[in-house]
Amino acid sequence: SQIKGTVEVEKVAEETRIVLKNVGEIDPTRIEEYIARDGYFALAKALQMEPGEVIEEIKRSGLRGRGGAGFPTGLKWEFTYKASADQKYVLCNADEGEPGTFKDRLIMEGDPHSLIEGMIIAGYAVGATKGYIYIRGEYHSSIEILKKAIEQAYEYGFLGENILGSGFNFDLKIRLGAGAYVAGEETALIESIEGKPARPRLKPPYPPTFGLFGKPTVVNNVETFVNVPRIIMNGAEWFKKFGTDSSPGTKVFSLVGNVVRKGIVEVPMGVTVRDLIFKFGGGVEGGRKLKVVQTGGSAGTFIGPDKLDVPLDFDSYAKYGVSLGSGVILVADETHCAVDLALAVMRFFEHESCGKCTPCREGTRMIVNILERISRGEGKKEDLDTLREIARNAGETSFCGLGQSIPVPLLSIVDNFEEEFRAHIGANKCPVGVCEFIKKK
Ligand code: NAD
Repeated sequence: SQIKGTVEVEKVAEETRIVLKNVGEIDPTRIEEYIARDGYFALAKALQMEPGEVIEEIKRSGLRGRGGAGFPTGLKWEFTYKASADQKYVLCNADEGEPGTFKDRLIMEGDPHSLIEGMIIAGYAVGATKGYIYIRGEYHSSIEILKKAIEQAYEYGFLGENILGSGFNFDLKIRLGAGAYVAGEETALIESIEGKPARPRLKPPYPPTFGLFGKPTVVNNVETFVNVPRIIMNGAEWFKKFGTDSSPGTKVFSLVGNVVRKGIVEVPMGVTVRDLIFKFGGGVEGGRKLKVVQTGGSAGTFIGPDKLDVPLDFDSYAKYGVSLGSGVILVADETHCAVDLALAVMRFFEHESCGKCTPCREGTRMIVNILERISRGEGKKEDLDTLREIARNAGETSFCGLGQSIPVPLLSIVDNFEEEFRAHIGANKCPVGVCEFIKKK
């Protein structure tokens, strides 16, 4: 274990570090240490390629968006490249708000220049001369480290005018979020940079054609950008050696909850949930029994021990009903109550709903009311059907991804633990003894 910059790093055996290759190895406040490890070489290489060739390389690599949705990065860049406009933008979504996710923070605090380099390459590829990194305001150290890294990149001529004598200009600035989960939704993030409240816009049009100030805009996550210099340096074929056919490369996972080693690990796509928890995470705390895992973040699926061997990639939700999302693995042991877990997640959704659309604003409130009633021992027979109906309705009719994802966690926990929910309702009993009101009865 060693401390470099603000990040404490201990590499777990058998990790595959592509994104995190510099984290813990360099002092993030010194650009020289980044350059000494081939930093900004990929930029020099990209600037000697045609923009279309850079996009082709990213397309061939199969890189998909690491924010959670897995949209093909090269395709997104191509849409932006083809859109004609007097100004284009590159935005980094560093408003990492998914509960339990802190991978982007580790990257920004441990290797800020890889992010900056990836963004400059994206700018060159799509024809954008301005970029913004939108960081959540709570990430104080990330902000400080990135500010310093941007200053140094300007001093060394990697940012600004005529970068490395190529004639290409690129300026990069930081913008801060103010603690709203929905501001991480890309169109809400764009509104926020424009100085408006962070509320989502209707999609389509998507940002590659109509983004910041109505101009073509690439929006990618921190981890996505960091993969870019690695791909340009080593080639698409090299990248495709890692991961699965449909989701090449690695994924940076956040292991949280009742797991022995909480923290970040980077492993190839296709890793099983079991390996993440037991091989990399050291198993369940206190040797207790695993009850449930929520994969992919608050909007992700709750899965029981029967699904631990599902290989995780961007298709595992469609194939097996197990979300990858932003790569959170939240482990809950046998001491947790399913109603209580559902309540925690749904209270988060209720709190973070921006209020713009009724199904999400009212739906989350109704769901929380019902779950609170159930946990107080005042559940009604029809409650589970009502919960399912509200969740499906919010999923089908909400304006943005926040409300649309409500059914994923809620239905998966109710379906997995229907008996436990029914024990609260029918027998007035919390089988785990967590729900306080019922326990006292
Ligand atoms: P989405 O599927 O609507 O879009 C994903 C990306 O693809 C966007 O950038 C979008 O612009 C682009 N895209 C999709 N269709 C397109 C088209 N036809 N043309 C051009 N571009 C197109 O998903 P989303 O709502 O942006 O994101 C949902 C994901 O966000 C979830 O998977 C969730 O896991 C994740 N998430 C992550 C965090 C975090 O902190 N990292 C927080 C909340 C949610």
